[in-house]
Amino acid sequence: PVRTKVSIAELCMDLKKLFPEEYIHFEIPSSEMNLYIDRAQIEQVLINLLKNAREACGKQSDKYIQVEIAISPAGNKILTVSDNGEGILPDVLDKIFVPFFTTKTTGSGIGLSLCKQIMTLHEGSINVKSELGKGSRFILTFPK
Ligand code: ADP
Ligand code: MG
Repeated sequence: PVRTKVSIAELCMDLKKLFPEEYIHFEIPSSEMNLYIDRAQIEQVLINLLKNAREACGKQSDKYIQVEIAISPAGNKILTVSDNGEGILPDVLDKIFVPFFTTKTTGSGIGLSLCKQIMTLHEGSINVKSELGKGSRFILTFPK
């Protein structure tokens, strides 16, 4: 990855242009917060997660997607993408990062495997918490 200092607020504002839907919320930090990342790659990660979240919400009337940033007690920066969509079956959860795994009729199964590769190249990680029928949260951890 080609790393530069990237403002999280600016990254979120660019993503909001790609995801203008009113139910997609970006919790932009009020104070300056930066990541040292390959901007194009991490933008691709967030685009993949937001597309999946949007698909998981489908035509639900109460759909809600949120991107948040936090700092862990250890000082790692954590970006999360949460949705209140269909959620993921426990047996499926183990497989979602495997290349070409998809549950969609026209899915490629590429998105999350690429996200995982990119996070590994950043010495970070991607994790997921999900409850069927309630929603999912994807957690990106960037090392300090
Ligand atoms: P694709 O979107 O082409 O199916 P992905 O690698 O992006 O491939 O995702 C793999 C699978 O993980 C999806 O088919 C779906 O079953 C599951 N998945 C990913 N994100 C979500 C989400 N936000 N909510 C529910 N299921 C998800
Ligand atoms: Mg996808």
